Amino acid sequence: MNRMTELAAFLRAHDDYALFGHVNPDGDAAGSCIALAKALQALGKRTFVYLPGGLPELYKVFPCTVEIADGRDLPFAPQTGFSVDVSEPHRLGDGRALFEACVNRAVLDHHATNPGFGEVCVVDGDAAACGELAVALIRELGVEMDSEMAQWLYIALCTDSGRFGYSSTRAETLEAAADCLRAGLDVDGVTQQLYRTRSEGRTRLLGLVLAGLEMNADKTMCWARLTDEMLSRAHALREDNEGVVNYLLEIRGVQFACLAEERGSGQTKFSLRSKGRVDVARDVAVPLGGGGHACAAGVTLNLDMEEALQTVLRTAEAALKNLQEQE
Ligand code: 5GP
Ligand code: MN
Repeated sequence: MNRMTELAAFLRAHDDYALFGHVNPDGDAAGSCIALAKALQALGKRTFVYLPGGLPELYKVFPCTVEIADGRDLPFAPQTGFSVDVSEPHRLGDGRALFEACVNRAVLDHHATNPGFGEVCVVDGDAAACGELAVALIRELGVEMDSEMAQWLYIALCTDSGRFGYSSTRAETLEAAADCLRAGLDVDGVTQQLYRTRSEGRTRLLGLVLAGLEMNADKTMCWARLTDEMLSRAHALREDNEGVVNYLLEIRGVQFACLAEERGSGQTKFSLRSKGRVDVARDVAVPLGGGGHACAAGVTLNLDMEEALQTVLRTAEAALKNLQEQE
């Protein structure tokens, strides 16, 4: 029996589900969890989705008939925990205790480093999005995809594959998207909300952050700061940071970009990005205690903004220098 068949059998055999996404839930975590919760409901299961901090505002415009809990009140005590798109237990955030208290636990993920923290685990590091694996699982469960599932799965696929543009995009990613279209996806409607609409706060925040960008002497590194003061000046939400770092990376010639965010009590969170030459997970995030993927990683340091930035930039500069010496 292959792993996906085993996972489907496990899911059919249990009930009373909580599906867990990772901290700072993105479109892949939220979309995969919601679609899978709907699929389990189609099998007659009781389910809810647990997202640390709840569903981001950005996604609240999309129809969702699944209950989403964020820790304040739970619809019922779950028996089965299903962790989706979460690379390691601590990325469950404030959902970790609830997941670990479940009698049965399963894991579906596309981070190759996932240690497999459930009884049944499907981890495929080659999948561009967890949504790709969710589509395969829904097929395996024999559930017919409806248009709401299709919408959330498409959001998942788009988010993590960079709209089918990152090198992680493979035939299976596009096949999963094709399944969504066949199930009645409104591709223009979803794209309009996801990529052609932006709140005023997000737009103003983008302006403030980009106005302060800095670069090193040879312009291969670019960084910027996001402070609490900027958030309040822009009337922006914390989640409005999403995608800001990409503008830094997209500057011609930049190989490494990072956004440093003030996180209160002397903490600074970094979003690290690379065009592919530097492995920001292996060479920058992991040595400093964080993690992620080769081209997109993150870490939080217990240092104030300027000290933390110096640490990250020194580490990235050393990685770039190493590469230049090898070439
Ligand atoms: P972002 O910059 O969007 O917050 O994160 C980019 C990627 O880096 C995420 O997909 C996630 O896998 C990873 N990541 C971000 N922050 C952390 C962290 O503190 N620890 C680990 N292990 N991974 C992180
Ligand atoms: Mn993902």
